[in-house]
Amino acid sequence: MEIKENVINNIKNARRGFALTGAGISAPSGIPTFRGEDGFWRNKDPYELASPSGFKKDPQLVWDWYNERRFNIREAGPNPAHYAIKEIGDSFEKFVIITQNVDNLHQQAGSKDVLELHGNIFGNKCNLCGKIFNNVESKEVPHCDVCDGLIRPDVIWFGEALSSDVLKEAWRWTENSDICLVIGTSAVVQPASYLPILARENGAFIMEINKSRTVISPYVDESIIGDVSIILPELARLRLSSL
Ligand code: NAD
Ligand code: ZN
Repeated sequence: MEIKENVINNIKNARRGFALTGAGISAPSGIPTFRGEDGFWRNKDPYELASPSGFKKDPQLVWDWYNERRFNIREAGPNPAHYAIKEIGDSFEKFVIITQNVDNLHQQAGSKDVLELHGNIFGNKCNLCGKIFNNVESKEVPHCDVCDGLIRPDVIWFGEALSSDVLKEAWRWTENSDICLVIGTSAVVQPASYLPILARENGAFIMEINKSRTVISPYVDESIIGDVSIILPELARLRLSSL
């Protein structure tokens, strides 16, 4: 694999930065992406499965689908790309992983600084009063012990707003990063895909790692086309060999 000189120089010399990750980083773990060829939404209407109106219409269908995803994620575990970005991050003075994924696999690979834009699939909350419930294991949709509302996954659904605290924190990283790695995301979901653009305006070097070009490719400094589980370990090797 040929990695360009300016990518090598930037990955070696950066001291502060962030990665923006999407479903593609978990694809080599066997977790389907949303929009790729084998994406999960292909035969299903996403609005039925991941929206407040879908949950209202058929809470059990949504709950079953999330249970199935939780089971698959538990079986899967992190892949070499998750471990490589952890190693890269640890070698920086400051580094955060800003993820659109809800699968907890960055944390499982040992990354400590992870900002979850869309929540975590293992969290749950009451649909009415918002009470948080962890470790809910139930085949039937459970009810809240405070208000009897239905319990739902604590993730951001279509049509829902991101947490403003998480977003503010993500924004801060675009202000003084040397580098931003955009990894395995189709970059069509806002406001996540705007983060690299902002970071670039503020002087960061933006490199994208994806198996194909995306809508953000024209706006980054370099697009490395290939499998994240091969490219990221190579970038980690380059970085660590220079320290
Ligand atoms: P997406 O499905 O829209 O895009 C996935 C991207 O990854 C594509 O651009 C594809 O080309 C690339 N890709 C797939 N396999 C790859 C590989 N092996 N190597 C390199 N690139 C690869 O995903 P997204 O951009 O994260 O979409 C956003 C939404 O999908 C988010 O809201 C997120 O919450 C949700 N989502 C999360 C998970 C998860 O937690 N693992 C899974 C599916 C979807
Ligand atoms: Zn409640």
